[in-house]
Amino acid sequence: MYRTHTCGELRAAHAGQTVTVSGWVNRRRDHGGVAFFDLRDRSGVVQITINPNLPQETLDLVANVRFEWVLQIEGAVQKRPEGNANPNMATGDVEIIAQKVTALNPAKTLPFMISSDADLPDENTRLKYRYLDLRRERLTHNMILRHKVVKFMRDYLDAQGFIEIETPIMFKATPEGARDYLVPSRLFPGQFYALPQSPQQLKQLLMVAGMDKYFQIARCFRDEDLRGDRQPEFTQLDLEMSFVHRDDVLQLVENLYTEMIPAVAPNKRLLSAPWKKIPYREALEKYGTDKPDLRFGMELQDVSDVFAKSEFKVFQSALENGGVIKCIVAPNSAGMSRKEIDALTEVAKSFGAKGMPTLTLTAEGPKGSAAKFISAEEIESLKSKIQFGEGDLILFASDAKAVANKVLGGLRLWFRDKLNLADENLMAFAWIVDFPFFAFNEETQMWESEHHPFTMPKMADLPKFETNPGEVFSEAYDMVCNGYEMASGSIRIHRRDIQMKMFQMLGLSDEEIKAKFGHMLEAFEYGAPPHGGMAPGIDRLIMLLADEPNIREVIAFPKNQNGRDVMADAPSEVEAKQLKELHIKFS
Ligand code: ASP
Repeated sequence: MYRTHTCGELRAAHAGQTVTVSGWVNRRRDHGGVAFFDLRDRSGVVQITINPNLPQETLDLVANVRFEWVLQIEGAVQKRPEGNANPNMATGDVEIIAQKVTALNPAKTLPFMISSDADLPDENTRLKYRYLDLRRERLTHNMILRHKVVKFMRDYLDAQGFIEIETPIMFKATPEGARDYLVPSRLFPGQFYALPQSPQQLKQLLMVAGMDKYFQIARCFRDEDLRGDRQPEFTQLDLEMSFVHRDDVLQLVENLYTEMIPAVAPNKRLLSAPWKKIPYREALEKYGTDKPDLRFGMELQDVSDVFAKSEFKVFQSALENGGVIKCIVAPNSAGMSRKEIDALTEVAKSFGAKGMPTLTLTAEGPKGSAAKFISAEEIESLKSKIQFGEGDLILFASDAKAVANKVLGGLRLWFRDKLNLADENLMAFAWIVDFPFFAFNEETQMWESEHHPFTMPKMADLPKFETNPGEVFSEAYDMVCNGYEMASGSIRIHRRDIQMKMFQMLGLSDEEIKAKFGHMLEAFEYGAPPHGGMAPGIDRLIMLLADEPNIREVIAFPKNQNGRDVMADAPSEVEAKQLKELHIKFS
């Protein structure tokens, strides 16, 4: 028997028992002829004390033991002497007085320390040795948290009458706006499977199959440029229900999260119940983004009317060109230095601003780059419209509405980080609803689906499909939290005629529609129920719950930022024979 107990479970109540534990040497100290080890397994760490009265061969073995050796220790659990307890360790009240030490496996000197996060090596080194990196307490905790979240989801949905169904990984292209990963077929030369960007089509076909209330912890594959914090494969809680309206789906997921968060992460608080439902356009107006961080204020304000007769050229020309003048008020920031303002102006420019007029009120009168162009009257009218006082800094954006929103939305988050405005233990969930159905792609001059092409438009907007696509709204919704999009979903098209119209609007020819989506259209002819669902991302949720800066920290074996697996060195070349079998030739 390798062990009677795990390292992390021993407490004062075990004192007096003889136990056997196995694990890795986390730390070692030698103190007046006595050696102390911290022995670690997944459950935690316990102190082992090696007294000098043990047989010489044991002492010789112990003298050789280095970090990360795998040891088996048999010994007596003892309460630590008065004053020696370690309140920072769950097992800190006890130690094991070793009677027998067995080396199960030695370890070479490791490429980095496991027991401390102080000197973290660069990420590629950590990922190359991910099996060592995962031994860190922090990453072990992340894996356990991930397990708890997924288990909670499964149990909760099971109790609500959902069933988990697996769907194929080798399938056909399922568009979610990214490139597909393709798998060449050996048996069908020149043909390919596509890895699903999501199980979207399959879960809808399950609804046609009568499998109401489906869910799956689903892997999705999207070949995108890895800008930002993305992974080529990631995990979603994919779910779908039949005979539901939008609010049925939202309520289910809201209830799940509201019960789950306190159960898996007791240090986190939820912002409000019920969650706010914010229309897409309102989100853009107030926060400059459709994934607002609601943990703090600093909402964007439209002050175009205050400056309707402005003498300020920059304001004038924005209004003349059909644009707007909007602002945010950064609290207690009037004292920012010239240098800081210059740096911030660069931030504003990176979001598309041409400049960044500012205004502050001081005892000596208005200051800031816009001050000399703003009249006393305008300041009075500004005061009646927005809340600000001495010490605050007003930042303006005057431009096309979309640009002004983007700029101020970006600056709002900049101030969030600079002024520490957001409570990191607050989970500010909300729903974004009433999305436009189409987005116009200026590059291709084509309409594209704002969500995916299986989303139902608002029925009342159907007549505007051809005449005014920009004014068609959809039955789509997003879940947002702390500035991230955490899920998206929709009520789906379940009628062939509407689905057909949608594909046509996207510029697909009849042949393309048949080749790509013929199976969906046909399915809709055999009694497809009204249905809808969503797919909350799991990686990002764990990242927020674990206070991690990126999703790679909560995935056991992530790709690096260039999309490589640096541990196994993938992607990699394959043998010529394999290529031949797959009918692949490089020219
Ligand atoms: N398939 C969608 C996605 O992956 C989610 C959904 O509409 O259920 O974003």
